[in-house]
Amino acid sequence: MIPGLMQDVPLLTTNILTHAEVAHGRVEIVSRTVEGRVHRYDYAGLARRTRQLARALQGLGVKSGDRLATLAWNTHRHLELFYGVPGLGAVLNTVNPRLFDDQIVYVLEHAESTVLFYDRTFAPLVERLAHRFTTVKTFVLMSDAEQHDAGAVGALNYETLIGGESGEAFDWPSFDENAGAFLCYTSGTTGDPKGVLYSHRAVVLHGMAAGLSSAFGLTAFDVVMPCSSLYHATAWGLPFIAPINGCKIVLPAEKMDGASLQELILGEGVTFTGGVPTIWTMYLDWLDQNGQGVGDLKRVIIGGSAVPRAMAETFKRRHGVQVLQIWGMTETCPLGVVATPTPSVTALGEDQVDEIIWTRQGRLQFGIELKVVDDEGNECPRDGETSGALMVRGPWTVKRYFRKDADVTDADGWFDTGDIATLDEHGFMRITDRAKDVIKTGGEWISSIDLENIAVACPGVKIAAVVGIPHPKWEERPLLVIETHEGRTVTKEDVLGFLQGKIVKWWTPDDVVFAPVPLTATGKIDKKTLRKAWNEHLMG
Ligand code: ADP
Repeated sequence: MIPGLMQDVPLLTTNILTHAEVAHGRVEIVSRTVEGRVHRYDYAGLARRTRQLARALQGLGVKSGDRLATLAWNTHRHLELFYGVPGLGAVLNTVNPRLFDDQIVYVLEHAESTVLFYDRTFAPLVERLAHRFTTVKTFVLMSDAEQHDAGAVGALNYETLIGGESGEAFDWPSFDENAGAFLCYTSGTTGDPKGVLYSHRAVVLHGMAAGLSSAFGLTAFDVVMPCSSLYHATAWGLPFIAPINGCKIVLPAEKMDGASLQELILGEGVTFTGGVPTIWTMYLDWLDQNGQGVGDLKRVIIGGSAVPRAMAETFKRRHGVQVLQIWGMTETCPLGVVATPTPSVTALGEDQVDEIIWTRQGRLQFGIELKVVDDEGNECPRDGETSGALMVRGPWTVKRYFRKDADVTDADGWFDTGDIATLDEHGFMRITDRAKDVIKTGGEWISSIDLENIAVACPGVKIAAVVGIPHPKWEERPLLVIETHEGRTVTKEDVLGFLQGKIVKWWTPDDVVFAPVPLTATGKIDKKTLRKAWNEHLMG
């Protein structure tokens, strides 16, 4: 080996901030605040306030390697913490406020976070749980100074804290790019939440790759509104992907209802947004009821759960918006695949393109390898048919969970995602289920995702959830649980009639029941709770 002779510049998140300030300093960042204002500045302003924050954090005694936690929405203050905390070599532990109390306590304790930044919304939660946080020494309320309330925890005020500091040149430390930057916990639907510690290198490489034309294809003309939560796997990296590409950023705080999103989409000229399917179900419904269009919106990335085909179709046909399905997980920073067309797929004709793009989670992206293996660990053919355990590998894939002793990769570095998938010759991956949600009936498998996808297109249906529940003869059979749109009446016969001809007969659910569908802290159908609730339903 002969060493290369290029500069050894570590890939650090502050390089993204510095780049955005120098190259796109005047590009706007618009944020709703939890107080209900709209805050406006630009990348130069973000960089300035982040330097103030960095000095304030040093004043609090924050050192490299410390963990600082947030319980916060998508706002400019949270964005400043995204750069200020890792910029000092400390780690930002973004806590999902939708977790149960015990899980929130578990995450903060496990992370050993010493400072907790929180939005006013979470003041009651913080006060309720504060006595159980043994490592948090400082509480900071992220609110305007005039509306500060120190509460029972004696919180400092974010604006007062940084207000006294200079925003002038700051000597951001340089350190190993493999240092931890973000500590994100999985939602822990089974067992305790697990901590995934993203390195600066992983975050920067992921951010560079996600903007590519094979993925999000962002340019400096785009206006990006992350509706995926900053606390959930760094809002899919958008806080880094947008500044790398010089995009205007629009932050909706906690207001994800149709009317609030529409106000920002039209008012700020949003061209690109993304979030879990439930947000877009509400948004499309709102557009429908109010007879409105989508302004400049061109593309929506949707992931976290399978995108119902009907959703992608409505976006395209009614609003001219392209849906890009993505798949990923907390363990992959989170982006794994993105569904964008290729020449080989386009050559099949428009209907086929739609079919492939809308029913596959996405295609291979440089930087993350995928393979599907059978029960013996042998690689399955990439034929679009053979399903197996989906394994991933690459520089932004987890190697070991935080504070665990053993790696979670096999000897060759592959991580088992827990998803069941197929890969095809065009490089597209399709998730058929989470391994634990697969319905095993008489030795065959039924894909709950495929069934849900079809059922949700039935008029009046808002959410369709399919779970396998014990059956005296067939081991398990599918039960379809339907939540309807408000004010709509749908019957079992309507749904079964709708499914007829669209699925093979033995996939037909044994029963259709109507009930509210519970969601997890990350907005997915909570199948564990559903299975428990309906466990006896087919046992007679
Ligand atoms: P959680 O904490 O809820 O597990 P993650 O974001 O880490 O949060 O969840 C990742 C999982 O979400 C994946 O392993 C997969 O099962 C599911 N998922 C993500 N995107 C999609 C998608 N486009 N289609 C189907 N499932 C998806």
